[in-house]
Amino acid sequence: MPRHRLNFPGSRLHKFVSVVSAAVIPHAVQAGEDNFWEGQRAEMVRDQLRSRGISDERVLAAMGTVPRHEFVPGAARSRAYEDGPLPIGFGQTISQPYIVAFMSQALQVSPSDRVLEIGTGSGYQAAILSPLVKEVYTIEIVKPLAERAAATLKCLGFDNVKVKAGDGYQGWPEEAPFDAIIVTCAPEDVPPALLDQLREGGRMVIPVGPEGEVQELVLLEKSVGALKKVDLLPVRFVPMTGGDP
Ligand code: SAH
Repeated sequence: MPRHRLNFPGSRLHKFVSVVSAAVIPHAVQAGEDNFWEGQRAEMVRDQLRSRGISDERVLAAMGTVPRHEFVPGAARSRAYEDGPLPIGFGQTISQPYIVAFMSQALQVSPSDRVLEIGTGSGYQAAILSPLVKEVYTIEIVKPLAERAAATLKCLGFDNVKVKAGDGYQGWPEEAPFDAIIVTCAPEDVPPALLDQLREGGRMVIPVGPEGEVQELVLLEKSVGALKKVDLLPVRFVPMTGGDP
């Protein structure tokens, strides 16, 4: 209907209001929600990370930008920015924000690095590393978790992350060597294949220790064939399953 035929101000107003509510209000709601999560992230960075000594500005920027709530499924989503680990299904957890930031900082990555992660879980740790490096390769042994993480990462545009369902004890030989390796489940000993796939001068951050006990998070540096080990922090991770029977 041509515009000049709409000659009742009331009906014009009605039309205007319905167009406004269809087009504008959902955006307003979306924007309000984004602001809410953004506020929670800023608080998390200030109260849980900076205040406890995380000082790498690139890591802090990633923690302040990546939407952690998108990686937390179900009812736990509202608690995404709390100071602790949360369930992600299949008996697994997304690590506490401080641990994610601490491990990312300890890895000392640069923009040209290619990184291997063992234990994709939700995909959040991989998403934090994504803007800090060239490529992230991540392996998850629970297939449905690998598939969900891959879908989340794709949907959010983390295009330099490649997810594989498989056993991390074997690493990813086709893509080796890696500049850095991060392991987010705990083996009893450092898997030899992962050491082989670390380049000369590369760094590995890995929790090592028996299941159900406190493990030690260690930094390993490979230089001229030798391995330098630094104990970083006592931690408690889910066990690394799989491996040799
Ligand atoms: N980094 C994850 C949290 C990891 S929880 C995140 O950001 O959400 C540890 C994960 O390691 C679990 O999902 C578990 O299934 C996985 N895992 C355990 N053993 C593994 C193995 N041998 N290879 C690959 N993944 C393994």
